[in-house]
Amino acid sequence: MSLSLRDQKLIWHPFTQAKVATLPIAIKRAHGSYVYDTDDKAYLDLIASWWVNLHGHAHPAIAKAIYEQALTLEHVIFTNFTHEPAVTLCEKLQKLLPDSLTRFFFSDNGSTAVETAVKMAYQYWWNQGKKQKTIFLSFDGSYHGDTFGAMSVGSSHFHKIYQKLFFKTIKIPYPATWQDDELIKVKETHALTVLEKTLTKYAKHIAAFILEPLVQGSSGMRMARAHFIKQAIEMAKAYDILIIFDEVMTGFGRTGTTFALEQIDVIPDFLCLAKGLTGGFIPLALTVTHQKIFEAFFGDCFEKALTHGHSYTANPLGCAAAIVSLDLLEKATQSINMITSEHRIGLKKLSEETKNTYKIRNVGTIAAFDIKGKNVNQLLKIKFQEHSLLLRPLDNTVYMIPPYSITKEEIRWSYKKITEVCNKL
Ligand SMILES: *Cc1c(COP(=O)(O)O)cnc(C)c1O
Repeated sequence: MSLSLRDQKLIWHPFTQAKVATLPIAIKRAHGSYVYDTDDKAYLDLIASWWVNLHGHAHPAIAKAIYEQALTLEHVIFTNFTHEPAVTLCEKLQKLLPDSLTRFFFSDNGSTAVETAVKMAYQYWWNQGKKQKTIFLSFDGSYHGDTFGAMSVGSSHFHKIYQKLFFKTIKIPYPATWQDDELIKVKETHALTVLEKTLTKYAKHIAAFILEPLVQGSSGMRMARAHFIKQAIEMAKAYDILIIFDEVMTGFGRTGTTFALEQIDVIPDFLCLAKGLTGGFIPLALTVTHQKIFEAFFGDCFEKALTHGHSYTANPLGCAAAIVSLDLLEKATQSINMITSEHRIGLKKLSEETKNTYKIRNVGTIAAFDIKGKNVNQLLKIKFQEHSLLLRPLDNTVYMIPPYSITKEEIRWSYKKITEVCNKL
């Protein structure tokens, strides 16, 4: 029996309607920017396997670091123990972050990084007797993960049915934009007006404002202008509201700078990192914050401490992978710049050579456009697969977020194939 059929008998896949799903493609191995199925057909991984892979698949340097770490120390409880890979990783990361982000809390994935930030923000106020600060602010269309806290602060249409179980949040309109967007100023002004009104009325009850800086990933690679985000943050800060940047997707060079916060030029109170942290090898996440926030949890009894921790906190294998991934990231600048400029060239050609594409947009290594037509999502996925492209459109949005191992020729080839698929739709 084929691997796909054996899978189908046993396994429940994420974000998949099993009744109508096509058989899963069985992947045997991966190398560089490609994954290979059991028939050795290659797929160019243009979405970095759900936005996690940075430097290419099965990267030997990362693989070696994990192997060697596993022979030395595979894991140890992280309450009152520590180890070299965890400390070295945080020291390395700190050099890439604003000086005041100095406290690192480990967890396992993007959702838990967000959960941690949400709990920290809430308890920061609680510990100071400001127990009325229970509301979280976020943008329409934001996505912060699939656990309950993360779903509550998000507004993904995927999570609508769980709404009754969510805690209280307030959503601000999000001025998504694209090339030649004539209404952007109007949308931004509207969003800021709603934000100001919300703050005047509810600031006393708001604990924190959480957002995906520059790009909302899951709701369709929706991009916003840096100076708008900066204005929104400054408004909220003026009302003494904590800022949480969810850079789970945008971190590690995706937007052209190491972190999106550099382009926005503000320092958040919490920074959530996951996905690319280990180069796409091992689940690992960090919530980074200020010394001031850390100290707000000091006390003579346990009650003020943060009651959060996962079994695999600061897993040494993940940390070892992340250390090497950061070293590789330092050398990836050229390739990030190349991807950025190839996206511009590719998108321009695509818009000239197709009639059904619109809302062309890109920031750094992320490129996206929308395609006209009803129920095209499944068809697109299949067509791209046939053309050896690993792409997974979100509704009508086709996007690319390739690993930095991709070459100029591979990007050009991809745009050619994507144009072909769009034109034959
Ligand atoms: C993917 C994602 C998450 C959730 O991360 P998981 O590792 O899937 O739990 C949170 N926030 C953003 C912005 C994401 O893109």
